[in-house]
Amino acid sequence: MKIQNLVFLVLFFPLLLSAKQKTGIIPQPVSMQVHSGKFVITENTAIEFKKNQVELKEAAAFFGKAIREISGYELPFNKKKAQTIRLSLDPINTIGKEGYQLQVTSDHIEIKANTKAGIIYGMQSLLQLLPPIRTNAKLELPCLEIEDYPRFKWRGMHLDVSRHFFGPEVVKEYIDLMASYKLNVFHWHLIDDQGWRIEIKQYPKVTDVGAWRVDQTQFPWGDRPQAKAGEEPTYGGYYTQEQIKEIIAYAAERNITVVPEIEMPGHVASAIASYPEFSCAQQPQLPLTGGDYSNTSSNYCAGNDAVFEFLENVLTEVIDLFPSEYIHIGGDEVNKDSWKKCDRCQARIKEEGLKDENELQSYFIKRIEKFLISKNRKMIGWDEILEGGLAPEATVMSWRGEAGGIEAAKMNHDVIMTPVNPCYFDFYQAGPAGEPLAFSGLNNLKKVYHYEPIPEELPAENAHYVLGAQANVWTEHISTVEHLEYMVLPRMAALAEVVWTPKEQKDWESFNTRIQEEYQAYELKGLRYCPGNFTVAIQPVSQDGKLLVALSTEILNGEIVYTLDGTEPTLESKKYTQPIEIESTVLLKASVVLHGQIRGAVPAQQQFVMHQAIGRDVNYTYPVSPYYLADGPNSLTDGVRGTATVGKFWHGFNGNDMVATVDLGKSKLVKNITLGCFQKYKGWIFMPKEVTFEASADGVVYEVIETISNPIDENAEEVIHDFKTTYGKDARYLRVSAKTNVCPKGHNGEGKPAWLFVDEIIVE
Ligand SMILES: [Zn+2]
Repeated sequence: MKIQNLVFLVLFFPLLLSAKQKTGIIPQPVSMQVHSGKFVITENTAIEFKKNQVELKEAAAFFGKAIREISGYELPFNKKKAQTIRLSLDPINTIGKEGYQLQVTSDHIEIKANTKAGIIYGMQSLLQLLPPIRTNAKLELPCLEIEDYPRFKWRGMHLDVSRHFFGPEVVKEYIDLMASYKLNVFHWHLIDDQGWRIEIKQYPKVTDVGAWRVDQTQFPWGDRPQAKAGEEPTYGGYYTQEQIKEIIAYAAERNITVVPEIEMPGHVASAIASYPEFSCAQQPQLPLTGGDYSNTSSNYCAGNDAVFEFLENVLTEVIDLFPSEYIHIGGDEVNKDSWKKCDRCQARIKEEGLKDENELQSYFIKRIEKFLISKNRKMIGWDEILEGGLAPEATVMSWRGEAGGIEAAKMNHDVIMTPVNPCYFDFYQAGPAGEPLAFSGLNNLKKVYHYEPIPEELPAENAHYVLGAQANVWTEHISTVEHLEYMVLPRMAALAEVVWTPKEQKDWESFNTRIQEEYQAYELKGLRYCPGNFTVAIQPVSQDGKLLVALSTEILNGEIVYTLDGTEPTLESKKYTQPIEIESTVLLKASVVLHGQIRGAVPAQQQFVMHQAIGRDVNYTYPVSPYYLADGPNSLTDGVRGTATVGKFWHGFNGNDMVATVDLGKSKLVKNITLGCFQKYKGWIFMPKEVTFEASADGVVYEVIETISNPIDENAEEVIHDFKTTYGKDARYLRVSAKTNVCPKGHNGEGKPAWLFVDEIIVE
């Protein structure tokens, strides 16, 4: 072999390897048969279509460009060649507006659809089977037949460009990723407190002022000091109307509709910094640098007609730019305190005969909806727009769980499901040890994959109001494109299968296998992605009076090793095969083993305590918050101690005390009683003011054992503390009361009700 050829081989060896035939498509098509044989795209392949169908010329150009990028071939259009890729728009009644039929044989490829969108999706399926980057390998495609169409019409990804700004090139990359997975709605969160990102010709100050802030990127979001007068705002940016037009056109080529979100009436501190006269206080303020809102107005005044004039003018420019049928108006998390103190807002409430500030919000939203309808557009908003009465034709985006979506669908309103769990891609997808800082919930790949957008509680006749689902990417903690890629990949692929593939055809094992090929493609393309959650999931299950613990991992071919004595698991530790029975107080640690190596930053761990109250019913005088139900009603007596993971194991109370009564079933000697509590300063979770322990023989007359005041510093960031009393007498009923607290002085929520988090009442 000549040296020259040797060099060639060495250089291209990795690419030849990677060019191994891909067989999986994400999202999984409705029907797909792979046959023997193959079609090879070469320079002698032409794309054929009817010349009078302009849309097909655009589609052919899209595919031609993609092939040029991976091979250098220029595929001619409508030239006589040995092999052809035929595109045709034919009425096919089985596949809907976005579906396609694809046939690959050894001498031709044919894509048929009702619309250009379907043709593009057929091409996306082909591109997924071809090498992801420029290669010298053959462009081989297996012979196959596919008929495919989406389950939902709204298949969305959201991106917050306010908290951190991402330039047009990043937005296009995001759109490309979406398009490759056949997602079709890009929800562009253009405005929020920390930045206004869309040029408005009539109001230049919204970007001159509102798009720029003092750069505090070196600090975590919540710790960023506020700007001081005279400091130069250097962080930010915005999209010019020309750039927006270009992005909309780029998205449209890929069958993606761009839905702009113009936030109101809250989350607009950036607009108020630009035009202070639109707030209730009408006081000047500097653009926010991060999560510190002290002395900041973040709402429009609902009593000031000038605000509506401003918003209608802004919306007019937005409508001129965006062809989208829907305009998103936000409507979430409005802090109504400023409205309560404002004479103009109160006058509006009186004048309009409104009951309260909730109805004032509803008045605001309905007035905007009326304007949008007059411009032939539909309004969409976050589920808070239900409060105080839903606007007549509004579409609701359900984020605080699914309850808002269910309520709206029952009222015959369209709904997009995007519940925090599992549709917030700013939450952790692994770890959290070893992961970049994220919001504290865990939305790992498997959880996203198993999401079902039609809730069981929704009556079947209302199911069609659920237009689809969407994942949201809030960027408080995400400031770079690398980090952004990491947060959306591979979860975007799992979402795609949720909204595209028929429910009965979803298959986690199959997806988990196909996604491995995507990981290789991401690596070749230089995209950052999360290779999976290497933290073992620990799931306690009580069964027949026994405490069993199931361990699982989403890692393909991953095995689990564990210990019960608190030592670090090694390759020699016990292999997990079936649920483990817990019989005494233990510290369980577990790790994933893949390819003969322990993986993950640290082992998953969980303490289990054995005590007299295990399995006993707990009765609450005041209800536990539906947001923090842990593993159900008996989480306080399941032997599983709460850890620093907020969303797990803890029962949460907001605004009321916790009063819990435990019936031990019969009179027993009670040596001591412990209540575990959690404090997380940034999560508005604080220790109770005091905890009182009482005992009773009959459940009627109680003896106070002890009241213990909170010994924990109210400014401590994160503490788990046990309130413990000793008794030494017999009792059947035990009552534990924890007095709710307020957020301390200097905290963002100063004086407001704190969350009270409790887990495990331990009776020894
Ligand atoms: Zn006001």
